[in-house]
Amino acid sequence: MNLIQVHPDSDFPIQNLPYGIFSTQANPDPRVGTRLGDFVIDLALLDNESLFGKQYAFFADSSLNRFMSAGRETWRDIRQQLTRLLGEEQASLKKEALIPVSEVQMHLPVNIGDYTDFYASREHATNVGIMFRGRENALMPNWLHLPVGYHGRASSVVLSGTDVIRPRGQAAPKGPPPEFVASRSLDFELEMGFFIGSGNELGDPIPIANAHEHIFGMVLLNDWSARDIQAWEYQPLGPFLAKNFATSISPWVVTMDALEPFRVAGPNQDPAPLSYLRSDSASGLDITLEVSLQSARMDSPQVISRSNMKHLYWSIEQMLAHHTITGCNMRPGDLCGTGTISGPTEDSYGSLLELTWRGEKPIQLSSGEERKFLQDGDVLTMKGYCQGDGYRVGFGEVTGKILPALK
Ligand code: MN
Repeated sequence: MNLIQVHPDSDFPIQNLPYGIFSTQANPDPRVGTRLGDFVIDLALLDNESLFGKQYAFFADSSLNRFMSAGRETWRDIRQQLTRLLGEEQASLKKEALIPVSEVQMHLPVNIGDYTDFYASREHATNVGIMFRGRENALMPNWLHLPVGYHGRASSVVLSGTDVIRPRGQAAPKGPPPEFVASRSLDFELEMGFFIGSGNELGDPIPIANAHEHIFGMVLLNDWSARDIQAWEYQPLGPFLAKNFATSISPWVVTMDALEPFRVAGPNQDPAPLSYLRSDSASGLDITLEVSLQSARMDSPQVISRSNMKHLYWSIEQMLAHHTITGCNMRPGDLCGTGTISGPTEDSYGSLLELTWRGEKPIQLSSGEERKFLQDGDVLTMKGYCQGDGYRVGFGEVTGKILPALK
């Protein structure tokens, strides 16, 4: 009989097997684990016991980078062995390898060298375009031809649960001169992140047909954004300080192999993209996404948006092919964000900017409060999962609490 029973609503059944970095009081060395139901499985320990048939020293590492760089064949071998070890052979595992999730501390899973954020949702780009430039000029002329992106800041990518300090900066809501203020319009962006596994050499682009072999897995990502700082600084080079103070990710990296059953056709792309961005395979992912907010006065979180990754116009393979078409080299552990994932309806928008339409339509909270943008003490949480037949492949959550600006 199996030691670990998994509820059908659990994000972490045997079909998932995500990877993360954890430590325990008994062994404070951060190391690689996977998750099954409410247990974390110590892969460094399984490796020490030679349960994989051969040894993978990288499970004792404090990041997933060496594992990620090992390449797709190794990822698949290990997943197959884990499916066997944690499935039919689970009863033979040492009890010490199975740790209740309440006893572990999670750490940032990846040593992130570079972080790039895209802008791949047509609905999001259109909504923001209407607000800032009017309906006629909502989408910029390049938008339907390439996945727009910018190079972000890797140093401030933080693990779910890390508090976010309200940033200070320049804002000029009524035009110049600017004031120096604590941001008055702090926002979230509902995104997914994908991690590069094996990279490419400088000068050697990743063709779109091979892009899937280079992507290790995905996490939930919140691209915290200070809209007032952004509006003043963003022209002509794009976001800078408005987004560099924090980007939160969920702790478990769900592999592309686990997500494969949830591939769906992406949206029709018209005009057809240039050939280096063209692909025949199903490139969308059916991932149900949900955002909730809990103010300091509320007893429980309130769902404020429901969206889905399948709405994205550009696929993650197109993003990667585009990113490297110049010969730009990606390295194991590099992180890419999809951009805000907004759906077609008003209750599926992926930011407060859109949900409240720039503050014109505040959200009513169950406490009687209203929100245009995030207030100090607010806790913002994103969840995501793929629904299978009788099981879910989920991401857990990414959460963060807003703290007041520093004096
Ligand atoms: Mn973003």
